[in-house]
Amino acid sequence: MSVLVMKFGGTSVANIDRIRRAAKRVGLEVAKGHDVIVIVSAMAGKTNELVGWVNEISPLHDAREYDAVVSSGENVTAGLMALVLQEMEIPARSWQGWQVPLLTNSAHSAARIEEIPTDNITAKFAEGMRVAVVAGFQGLSPEGRITTLGRGGSDTTAVAFAAAFDAVRCDIYTDVDGVYTTDPRIASRARKLDRIAFEEMLELASLGAKVLQTRSVELAMRYNVRLRVLSSFEEPSDEAGTLVCAEEDIMESNVVSGIAYSRDEAKMTLVSVADRPGIAAAIFGPLAEAGVNVDMIIQNIAEEGRTDMTFSCPTDQVKRAEKALSDARAAGAINYHDLIADTDVAKVSAVGIGMRSQSGVAAKMFKTLSDEGINIKVIATSEIKISVLIDRKYMELAVQALHDAFGLDKAA
Ligand code: ADP
Ligand code: ASP
Ligand code: MG
Repeated sequence: MSVLVMKFGGTSVANIDRIRRAAKRVGLEVAKGHDVIVIVSAMAGKTNELVGWVNEISPLHDAREYDAVVSSGENVTAGLMALVLQEMEIPARSWQGWQVPLLTNSAHSAARIEEIPTDNITAKFAEGMRVAVVAGFQGLSPEGRITTLGRGGSDTTAVAFAAAFDAVRCDIYTDVDGVYTTDPRIASRARKLDRIAFEEMLELASLGAKVLQTRSVELAMRYNVRLRVLSSFEEPSDEAGTLVCAEEDIMESNVVSGIAYSRDEAKMTLVSVADRPGIAAAIFGPLAEAGVNVDMIIQNIAEEGRTDMTFSCPTDQVKRAEKALSDARAAGAINYHDLIADTDVAKVSAVGIGMRSQSGVAAKMFKTLSDEGINIKVIATSEIKISVLIDRKYMELAVQALHDAFGLDKAA
Protein backbone atom coordinates (compact mmCIF):
# COMPACT_ATOMS: atom_id res chain seq x y z
CA MET A 1 0.00 0.00 0.00
CA SER A 2 1.32 3.46 -0.84
CA VAL A 3 1.66 5.98 1.94
CA LEU A 4 0.99 9.68 1.39
CA VAL A 5 1.90 12.38 3.93
CA MET A 6 -0.36 15.44 4.14
CA LYS A 7 0.55 18.29 6.50
CA PHE A 8 -1.92 21.00 7.45
CA GLY A 9 -0.55 24.25 8.90
CA GLY A 10 -2.23 26.44 11.51
CA THR A 11 -4.53 28.40 9.20
CA SER A 12 -5.72 25.16 7.56
CA VAL A 13 -6.94 23.85 10.94
CA ALA A 14 -7.86 27.21 12.50
CA ASN A 15 -11.44 26.17 13.35
CA ILE A 16 -13.81 23.22 13.01
CA ASP A 17 -14.97 24.25 9.53
CA ARG A 18 -11.43 24.34 8.26
CA ILE A 19 -10.62 21.01 9.87
CA ARG A 20 -13.64 19.58 8.04
CA ARG A 21 -12.42 21.08 4.77
CA ALA A 22 -8.94 19.61 5.31
CA ALA A 23 -10.44 16.24 6.21
CA LYS A 24 -12.33 16.25 2.91
CA ARG A 25 -9.01 16.48 1.09
CA VAL A 26 -7.71 13.60 3.13
CA GLY A 27 -10.83 11.65 2.14
CA LEU A 28 -10.08 12.23 -1.56
CA GLU A 29 -6.60 10.74 -1.16
CA VAL A 30 -7.92 7.78 0.84
CA ALA A 31 -10.42 7.15 -1.98
CA LYS A 32 -7.48 7.02 -4.41
CA GLY A 33 -6.13 4.11 -2.37
CA HIS A 34 -3.43 5.78 -0.28
CA ASP A 35 -2.85 5.11 3.37
CA VAL A 36 -2.49 8.64 4.69
CA ILE A 37 -0.38 10.08 7.47
CA VAL A 38 -1.80 13.49 8.35
CA ILE A 39 0.46 15.85 10.28
CA VAL A 40 -1.33 18.72 11.97
CA SER A 41 -0.15 22.02 13.43
CA ALA A 42 -1.88 23.79 16.29
CA MET A 43 -4.78 26.09 15.37
CA ALA A 44 -3.51 29.43 14.02
CA GLY A 45 -2.30 31.69 16.82
CA LYS A 46 -2.41 28.94 19.47
CA THR A 47 1.33 28.32 19.72
CA ASN A 48 2.00 32.07 20.03
CA GLU A 49 -0.50 32.25 22.86
CA LEU A 50 1.15 29.32 24.66
CA VAL A 51 4.64 30.82 24.20
CA GLY A 52 3.29 34.11 25.56
CA TRP A 53 2.00 32.44 28.70
CA VAL A 54 5.32 30.72 29.36
CA ASN A 55 7.25 33.96 28.89
CA GLU A 56 4.84 35.82 31.13
CA ILE A 57 5.64 33.42 33.98
CA SER A 58 9.38 33.25 33.38
CA PRO A 59 11.44 34.70 30.53
CA LEU A 60 14.38 32.43 31.45
CA HIS A 61 12.17 29.34 31.75
CA ASP A 62 12.91 25.64 32.11
CA ALA A 63 12.94 24.57 28.45
CA ARG A 64 11.41 21.17 29.32
CA GLU A 65 8.31 22.83 30.72
CA TYR A 66 8.21 25.25 27.76
CA ASP A 67 8.02 22.19 25.50
CA ALA A 68 5.36 20.53 27.68
CA VAL A 69 3.20 23.64 27.27
CA VAL A 70 3.80 24.72 23.67
CA SER A 71 3.48 21.19 22.23
CA SER A 72 -0.09 20.96 23.52
CA GLY A 73 -1.75 22.91 20.70
CA GLU A 74 -1.05 20.07 18.28
CA ASN A 75 -2.68 17.50 20.60
CA VAL A 76 -6.00 19.28 20.25
CA THR A 77 -5.99 19.46 16.44
CA ALA A 78 -4.81 15.83 16.11
CA GLY A 79 -7.74 14.58 18.17
CA LEU A 80 -10.24 16.83 16.40
CA MET A 81 -9.03 15.80 12.95
CA ALA A 82 -9.32 12.10 13.88
CA LEU A 83 -12.87 12.69 15.12
CA VAL A 84 -13.91 14.50 11.93
CA LEU A 85 -12.47 11.66 9.82
CA GLN A 86 -14.30 9.09 11.92
CA GLU A 87 -17.52 11.04 11.35
CA MET A 88 -16.80 10.63 7.62
CA GLU A 89 -16.51 6.87 8.27
CA ILE A 90 -12.82 6.83 7.51
CA PRO A 91 -10.93 4.60 10.00
CA ALA A 92 -8.57 7.04 11.71
CA ARG A 93 -6.88 7.65 15.05
CA SER A 94 -4.61 10.30 16.52
CA TRP A 95 -1.01 9.84 17.64
CA GLN A 96 0.94 12.18 19.87
CA GLY A 97 4.68 12.35 19.31
CA TRP A 98 5.52 10.10 22.29
CA GLN A 99 3.05 7.45 21.14
CA VAL A 100 4.64 6.97 17.72
CA PRO A 101 7.29 7.41 19.22
CA LEU A 102 9.03 10.23 17.36
CA LEU A 103 12.45 10.08 19.03
CA THR A 104 14.56 13.24 19.28
CA ASN A 105 17.67 14.41 21.07
CA SER A 106 17.39 16.46 24.28
CA ALA A 107 17.77 19.93 22.74
CA HIS A 108 14.51 21.25 24.14
CA SER A 109 12.66 23.83 21.98
CA ALA A 110 14.94 23.04 19.03
CA ALA A 111 15.18 19.25 19.14
CA ARG A 112 16.40 17.17 16.23
CA ILE A 113 14.67 14.01 15.13
CA GLU A 114 16.79 10.89 15.63
CA GLU A 115 14.43 8.11 14.64
CA ILE A 116 10.83 7.36 13.76
CA PRO A 117 10.08 3.66 14.30
CA THR A 118 7.37 2.74 11.81
CA ASP A 119 6.07 -0.50 13.39
CA ASN A 120 3.17 0.88 15.47
CA ILE A 121 1.55 2.84 12.66
CA THR A 122 2.29 0.20 10.02
CA ALA A 123 0.60 -2.44 12.19
CA LYS A 124 -2.51 -0.25 12.46
CA PHE A 125 -2.58 0.29 8.69
CA ALA A 126 -2.39 -3.50 8.31
CA GLU A 127 -5.43 -3.80 10.59
CA GLY A 128 -7.47 -1.48 8.37
CA MET A 129 -6.78 1.98 9.77
CA ARG A 130 -6.62 4.34 6.77
CA VAL A 131 -5.41 7.57 8.35
CA ALA A 132 -2.87 8.14 11.12
CA VAL A 133 -3.28 11.70 12.39
CA VAL A 134 0.00 12.73 14.02
CA ALA A 135 0.52 15.81 16.17
CA GLY A 136 3.30 17.77 14.46
CA PHE A 137 6.15 19.68 16.09
CA GLN A 138 6.59 17.33 19.09
CA GLY A 139 8.78 14.40 20.04
CA LEU A 140 10.24 12.40 22.91
CA SER A 141 13.72 12.88 24.39
CA PRO A 142 15.96 10.02 25.58
CA GLU A 143 15.06 11.13 29.11
CA GLY A 144 11.38 10.51 28.38
CA ARG A 145 10.41 14.19 28.25
CA ILE A 146 8.34 15.92 25.55
CA THR A 147 10.43 17.96 23.11
CA THR A 148 9.54 20.39 20.31
CA LEU A 149 11.30 20.89 17.00
CA GLY A 150 11.48 24.71 16.85
CA ARG A 151 8.89 27.10 15.45
CA GLY A 152 7.44 25.87 12.19
CA GLY A 153 8.53 22.36 13.16
CA SER A 154 5.46 20.54 11.87
CA ASP A 155 6.94 20.84 8.38
CA THR A 156 9.90 18.84 9.63
CA THR A 157 7.65 16.26 11.28
CA ALA A 158 5.91 15.81 7.92
CA VAL A 159 9.08 15.37 5.86
CA ALA A 160 10.60 13.04 8.46
CA PHE A 161 7.49 10.82 8.32
CA ALA A 162 7.59 10.86 4.53
CA ALA A 163 11.20 9.67 4.65
CA ALA A 164 10.58 7.04 7.34
CA PHE A 165 7.53 5.58 5.57
CA ASP A 166 8.98 5.96 2.08
CA ALA A 167 5.91 7.99 1.14
CA VAL A 168 4.96 8.64 -2.48
CA ARG A 169 4.85 12.38 -1.69
CA CYS A 170 4.78 14.90 1.14
CA ASP A 171 2.12 17.59 0.62
CA ILE A 172 2.44 20.70 2.77
CA TYR A 173 -0.92 22.51 2.87
CA THR A 174 -0.63 26.14 3.90
CA ASP A 175 -2.29 29.53 3.46
CA VAL A 176 -0.55 30.43 0.18
CA ASP A 177 -0.79 28.31 -2.96
CA GLY A 178 2.91 27.56 -3.26
CA VAL A 179 6.41 28.95 -2.94
CA TYR A 180 6.68 32.43 -4.43
CA THR A 181 9.58 34.51 -5.70
CA THR A 182 9.19 36.41 -2.44
CA ASP A 183 6.61 36.64 0.35
CA PRO A 184 3.37 37.43 -1.54
CA ARG A 185 2.17 39.27 1.55
CA ILE A 186 4.72 42.03 1.10
CA ALA A 187 5.25 42.11 -2.67
CA SER A 188 2.08 42.04 -4.75
CA ARG A 189 4.08 41.20 -7.88
CA ALA A 190 5.50 38.02 -6.33
CA ARG A 191 5.09 35.10 -8.71
CA LYS A 192 4.34 31.51 -7.79
CA LEU A 193 7.05 29.07 -8.83
CA ASP A 194 6.04 25.70 -10.32
CA ARG A 195 9.33 24.22 -9.18
CA ILE A 196 12.19 25.25 -6.94
CA ALA A 197 15.50 23.47 -6.34
CA PHE A 198 16.21 22.04 -2.89
CA GLU A 199 19.33 24.22 -2.53
CA GLU A 200 17.41 27.40 -3.30
CA MET A 201 14.54 26.51 -0.99
CA LEU A 202 17.05 25.70 1.73
CA GLU A 203 18.66 29.15 1.42
CA LEU A 204 15.31 30.96 1.21
CA ALA A 205 14.05 29.13 4.30
CA SER A 206 17.17 29.74 6.32
CA LEU A 207 17.17 33.42 5.29
CA GLY A 208 13.66 33.92 6.61
CA ALA A 209 11.02 32.62 4.13
CA LYS A 210 8.95 30.79 6.71
CA VAL A 211 6.82 28.87 4.21
CA LEU A 212 8.94 25.78 5.06
CA GLN A 213 11.08 25.18 8.14
CA THR A 214 14.76 24.99 7.09
CA ARG A 215 15.28 21.57 8.64
CA SER A 216 12.37 20.12 6.66
CA VAL A 217 14.07 21.12 3.40
CA GLU A 218 17.35 19.63 4.59
CA LEU A 219 15.64 16.31 5.31
CA ALA A 220 13.73 16.33 2.02
CA MET A 221 16.98 16.91 0.16
CA ARG A 222 18.85 14.19 2.05
CA TYR A 223 16.13 11.55 1.69
CA ASN A 224 14.89 12.65 -1.72
CA VAL A 225 11.34 13.24 -0.55
CA ARG A 226 8.91 14.51 -3.20
CA LEU A 227 7.91 17.70 -1.43
CA ARG A 228 5.01 19.85 -2.59
CA VAL A 229 3.70 23.12 -1.09
CA LEU A 230 0.07 23.96 -1.85
CA SER A 231 -3.00 25.68 -0.50
CA SER A 232 -5.78 23.96 1.39
CA PHE A 233 -8.15 26.66 0.10
CA GLU A 234 -7.78 25.99 -3.64
CA GLU A 235 -9.56 23.32 -5.64
CA PRO A 236 -7.58 20.04 -5.65
CA SER A 237 -5.46 19.43 -8.77
CA ASP A 238 -2.37 17.41 -9.62
CA GLU A 239 -0.59 20.49 -10.96
CA ALA A 240 -1.30 22.63 -7.89
CA GLY A 241 1.38 24.20 -5.79
CA THR A 242 5.16 24.18 -6.00
CA LEU A 243 7.33 21.10 -6.25
CA VAL A 244 10.60 21.31 -4.33
CA CYS A 245 12.94 19.12 -6.36
CA ALA A 246 16.46 18.41 -7.54
CA GLU A 247 18.21 21.09 -9.60
CA GLU A 248 18.33 18.75 -12.63
CA ASP A 249 14.54 18.64 -12.74
CA ILE A 250 14.25 22.36 -13.44
CA MET A 251 14.50 23.43 -17.06
CA GLU A 252 14.70 27.22 -16.88
CA SER A 253 15.28 29.56 -14.02
CA ASN A 254 16.23 33.16 -13.42
CA VAL A 255 19.72 33.98 -12.14
CA VAL A 256 18.04 35.11 -8.94
CA SER A 257 15.05 32.94 -8.09
CA GLY A 258 13.85 34.52 -4.88
CA ILE A 259 14.15 37.33 -2.36
CA ALA A 260 13.93 36.50 1.35
CA TYR A 261 13.81 38.73 4.38
CA SER A 262 14.15 38.39 8.09
CA ARG A 263 12.81 41.05 10.43
CA ASP A 264 14.33 39.61 13.55
CA GLU A 265 17.98 40.49 13.14
CA ALA A 266 20.20 42.51 15.42
CA LYS A 267 23.53 44.13 14.63
CA MET A 268 26.04 43.99 17.48
CA THR A 269 29.23 46.03 17.46
CA LEU A 270 32.13 45.51 19.81
CA VAL A 271 33.89 48.85 19.91
CA SER A 272 37.67 48.91 20.12
CA VAL A 273 38.90 45.37 20.60
CA ALA A 274 42.60 44.51 20.42
CA ASP A 275 43.58 43.53 16.86
CA ARG A 276 45.66 40.46 17.62
CA PRO A 277 45.82 36.82 16.48
CA GLY A 278 43.12 34.82 18.25
CA ILE A 279 40.76 37.72 18.89
CA ALA A 280 38.00 36.36 16.65
CA ALA A 281 38.20 32.98 18.40
CA ALA A 282 38.09 34.71 21.79
CA ILE A 283 34.90 36.55 20.81
CA PHE A 284 33.01 33.96 18.79
CA GLY A 285 33.97 30.95 20.94
CA PRO A 286 31.96 32.14 23.98
CA LEU A 287 29.08 33.23 21.71
CA ALA A 288 28.90 29.75 20.19
CA GLU A 289 29.02 28.14 23.63
CA ALA A 290 26.13 30.36 24.71
CA GLY A 291 24.10 29.10 21.73
CA VAL A 292 24.11 32.43 19.86
CA ASN A 293 23.60 31.93 16.11
CA VAL A 294 26.03 34.42 14.65
CA ASP A 295 25.32 35.06 10.99
CA MET A 296 27.23 37.93 9.35
CA ILE A 297 30.60 39.19 10.61
CA ILE A 298 32.76 42.19 9.70
CA GLN A 299 36.00 43.33 11.18
CA ASN A 300 36.88 46.95 10.46
CA ILE A 301 40.30 48.26 9.56
CA ALA A 302 42.52 48.48 12.62
CA GLU A 303 43.94 51.73 13.91
CA GLU A 304 46.69 51.73 16.49
CA GLY A 305 46.22 48.06 17.17
CA ARG A 306 42.49 48.30 17.93
CA THR A 307 39.50 47.55 15.75
CA ASP A 308 35.69 47.30 15.80
CA MET A 309 34.06 43.92 15.28
CA THR A 310 30.46 43.74 14.05
CA PHE A 311 28.22 40.69 13.82
CA SER A 312 24.54 39.91 13.42
CA CYS A 313 22.36 37.47 15.36
CA PRO A 314 18.61 36.92 15.91
CA THR A 315 17.00 39.67 18.02
CA ASP A 316 15.89 37.26 20.71
CA GLN A 317 19.50 36.21 21.30
CA VAL A 318 20.82 39.71 22.02
CA LYS A 319 20.59 39.32 25.81
CA ARG A 320 22.40 36.00 25.65
CA ALA A 321 25.12 37.49 23.42
CA GLU A 322 25.59 40.46 25.76
CA LYS A 323 25.95 38.16 28.75
CA ALA A 324 28.43 35.83 27.00
CA LEU A 325 30.61 38.78 25.96
CA SER A 326 30.52 40.58 29.29
CA ASP A 327 31.39 37.31 31.07
CA ALA A 328 34.32 36.85 28.67
CA ARG A 329 35.42 40.42 29.40
CA ALA A 330 35.13 39.89 33.16
CA ALA A 331 37.24 36.72 32.82
CA GLY A 332 39.92 38.73 30.99
CA ALA A 333 39.54 36.74 27.74
CA ILE A 334 38.60 39.84 25.71
CA ASN A 335 38.75 43.55 26.20
CA TYR A 336 36.47 46.09 24.50
CA HIS A 337 35.30 49.62 25.19
CA ASP A 338 31.63 49.23 24.40
CA LEU A 339 29.04 46.82 23.03
CA ILE A 340 26.34 48.43 20.91
CA ALA A 341 23.20 46.49 19.99
CA ASP A 342 21.17 47.82 17.05
CA THR A 343 17.87 45.94 16.98
CA ASP A 344 16.24 48.11 14.29
CA VAL A 345 17.73 46.21 11.37
CA ALA A 346 16.48 43.58 8.94
CA LYS A 347 18.20 41.21 6.57
CA VAL A 348 17.25 41.05 2.90
CA SER A 349 18.73 38.37 0.66
CA ALA A 350 18.75 37.44 -3.00
CA VAL A 351 19.01 33.69 -3.72
CA GLY A 352 19.60 31.74 -6.92
CA ILE A 353 21.67 28.83 -8.17
CA GLY A 354 22.24 30.84 -11.36
CA MET A 355 24.62 33.07 -9.36
CA ARG A 356 27.23 30.33 -9.48
CA SER A 357 27.83 31.01 -13.15
CA GLN A 358 26.85 34.65 -13.54
CA SER A 359 28.71 37.65 -12.19
CA GLY A 360 27.32 41.10 -11.49
CA VAL A 361 24.47 40.05 -9.20
CA ALA A 362 25.98 41.73 -6.15
CA ALA A 363 26.69 44.94 -8.07
CA LYS A 364 23.10 45.05 -9.31
CA MET A 365 21.77 44.47 -5.82
CA PHE A 366 23.88 47.26 -4.32
CA LYS A 367 22.99 49.69 -7.14
CA THR A 368 19.26 48.96 -6.71
CA LEU A 369 19.43 49.66 -2.99
CA SER A 370 21.47 52.80 -3.51
CA ASP A 371 18.94 54.10 -6.07
CA GLU A 372 16.31 53.76 -3.34
CA GLY A 373 18.54 55.63 -0.88
CA ILE A 374 18.93 52.55 1.33
CA ASN A 375 22.16 52.30 3.26
CA ILE A 376 23.77 48.85 3.56
CA LYS A 377 25.17 48.11 7.02
CA VAL A 378 26.63 44.62 6.60
CA ILE A 379 27.05 42.32 3.59
CA ALA A 380 27.43 38.55 3.45
CA THR A 381 27.69 36.32 0.41
CA SER A 382 27.86 32.65 -0.43
CA GLU A 383 27.88 30.78 -3.73
CA ILE A 384 24.13 31.16 -4.24
CA LYS A 385 23.08 34.08 -2.05
CA ILE A 386 23.83 37.71 -1.18
CA SER A 387 22.50 39.13 2.07
CA VAL A 388 22.51 42.69 3.33
CA LEU A 389 21.60 44.18 6.66
CA ILE A 390 19.62 47.43 6.39
CA ASP A 391 17.41 49.63 8.57
CA ARG A 392 14.19 47.73 9.25
CA LYS A 393 11.98 50.58 8.05
CA TYR A 394 13.30 50.04 4.50
CA MET A 395 12.82 46.27 4.47
CA GLU A 396 9.63 46.08 2.40
CA LEU A 397 10.87 48.73 -0.02
CA ALA A 398 14.12 46.80 -0.49
CA VAL A 399 12.30 43.50 -1.11
CA GLN A 400 10.03 45.10 -3.71
CA ALA A 401 12.83 47.02 -5.44
CA LEU A 402 15.05 43.93 -5.69
CA HIS A 403 12.15 41.80 -6.88
CA ASP A 404 11.61 44.29 -9.73
CA ALA A 405 15.31 44.77 -10.48
CA PHE A 406 15.88 41.04 -10.95
CA GLY A 407 12.74 40.69 -13.09
CA LEU A 408 11.20 38.12 -10.80
CA ASP A 409 7.65 38.96 -11.79
CA LYS A 410 8.40 37.34 -15.16
CA ALA A 411 9.28 33.70 -15.80
CA ALA A 412 12.76 32.91 -17.18
P1 ADP B 1 1.66 27.34 8.13
O1 ADP B 1 0.93 27.82 9.34
O2 ADP B 1 0.76 26.71 7.12
O3 ADP B 1 2.84 26.49 8.47
P2 ADP B 1 3.41 29.62 7.74
O4 ADP B 1 2.83 30.90 8.22
O5 ADP B 1 4.40 28.95 8.59
O6 ADP B 1 2.18 28.64 7.40
O7 ADP B 1 4.05 29.82 6.29
C1 ADP B 1 3.29 30.39 5.24
C2 ADP B 1 3.65 31.86 5.09
O8 ADP B 1 4.98 32.00 4.63
C3 ADP B 1 2.84 32.59 4.05
O9 ADP B 1 1.62 33.05 4.57
C4 ADP B 1 3.75 33.73 3.60
O10 ADP B 1 3.42 34.96 4.20
C5 ADP B 1 5.13 33.31 4.12
N1 ADP B 1 6.17 33.34 3.09
C6 ADP B 1 7.38 33.94 3.22
N2 ADP B 1 8.10 33.83 2.11
C7 ADP B 1 7.35 33.12 1.23
C8 ADP B 1 7.57 32.67 -0.12
N3 ADP B 1 8.72 32.91 -0.78
N4 ADP B 1 6.58 31.99 -0.73
C9 ADP B 1 5.42 31.73 -0.09
N5 ADP B 1 5.17 32.13 1.19
C10 ADP B 1 6.11 32.82 1.84
N1 ASP C 1 2.58 25.12 15.93
C1 ASP C 1 4.01 25.24 15.79
C2 ASP C 1 4.40 26.69 15.50
O1 ASP C 1 3.53 27.55 15.40
C3 ASP C 1 4.57 24.31 14.76
C4 ASP C 1 4.06 24.53 13.35
O2 ASP C 1 3.02 25.12 13.15
O3 ASP C 1 4.77 24.09 12.43
O4 ASP C 1 5.55 26.99 15.41
MG1 MG D 1 4.80 26.99 9.14
